[in-house]
Amino acid sequence: MKKKTVLSVVVFIDALGWEVLRDRPFMEKELPYRRKLKSVFGYSSACIPSILTGLMPREHKHWSFFYYSPKTSPFGPLRWLGLLPASIVNRGRVRNAISQLVKKFYKYSGYFQLYNIPFKFIHLFDYCEKSDLFVPGGMNRGKNIFDHLQAASVKYHVSNWRNSEESNLAAARDDIEKGQITFAFLYMASMDALLHNVGKESSQVTDKLKWYEEKLRTLMSVANEKYDEVRLFVCSDHGMATVYKNLNLMGEVEALGLVFGKDYVATYDSTMGRFWFHNAQAKQKIVDFLTSFKGGKILSNEELKRVGCDFEESQYGELIYLMDPGVMIVPSHMGEQPITGMHGYHPDDADSDAVLLSNVEPPASPECITDIFRLIRSETGA
Ligand SMILES: [Zn+2]
Repeated sequence: MKKKTVLSVVVFIDALGWEVLRDRPFMEKELPYRRKLKSVFGYSSACIPSILTGLMPREHKHWSFFYYSPKTSPFGPLRWLGLLPASIVNRGRVRNAISQLVKKFYKYSGYFQLYNIPFKFIHLFDYCEKSDLFVPGGMNRGKNIFDHLQAASVKYHVSNWRNSEESNLAAARDDIEKGQITFAFLYMASMDALLHNVGKESSQVTDKLKWYEEKLRTLMSVANEKYDEVRLFVCSDHGMATVYKNLNLMGEVEALGLVFGKDYVATYDSTMGRFWFHNAQAKQKIVDFLTSFKGGKILSNEELKRVGCDFEESQYGELIYLMDPGVMIVPSHMGEQPITGMHGYHPDDADSDAVLLSNVEPPASPECITDIFRLIRSETGA
């Protein structure tokens, strides 16, 4: 008798939050098992490594892109760009072009973007995602699911995250039609960009869900023709909060009269300020200021430990100031302009919650996005 053929498909939709799906129909019939998953504190640069390794950021060492490390910073040669007028070098297109050149020069295979980090201080920072996360050996520390799949000789398909959703769908379909693989990881990134731009309340989000539904139905029917059983899982990394207030935290800290690079160093993500101190007075001044600043809170060491973000040698900041959900730092080192939706708030906030939807009951009871790693291992035997 011919052996039953089984294909497991994990479709990752960036920012498909539990709250984004609330009151919106999305493949209810095809995916009756629907779970809310706790996200991991940080941006996709932290969440995706956690999904791919089952580890917390403290363990895989991926978190926000930039961290203070003048000794290892590869960006010294870019410092002179700080002498050029900001109106030229800070234009989005120019920054993009420079990012691409740096990426090529250093042969980075990961997602690389200089964002809005000031060139004047760029030699003080290093970057955490130099390697492609979606290949064996892609982690700063630990093994990812692709290491395990390779070791177990599982024949699998994985999207090229650099390509469009259409192109990723077509590539997955091609491999499924050949019938050789037993596992496919489909990567879809556009939902995140859309939610940032229009916010989770927009009807454009509903339309985009319809689009995914249509595409995934087609993909499933192709898979069902080729395989006896197709096990489909749709998952995400985090949700999206609607921004209601922008605060110039960076400007206020700079107004304290301390010298950046001499007294302290800071980097400002969209939802957190991260600080390193060079003397006790500067630390006291910044702590006093942040304690009275309304719009967020200093995260204690216990809190950072609880959320898996207590890094060795305070790699990502000696002090982390996290904004309240819906409050955004503008301008920041991530961007100069306000935006409708943002994530990277506390993982306990409802808008941070991710999802796992499936057509079969997930093997163990998944609670956190790190459980997606264990799910894939159990699906593939890797
Ligand atoms: Zn995002």
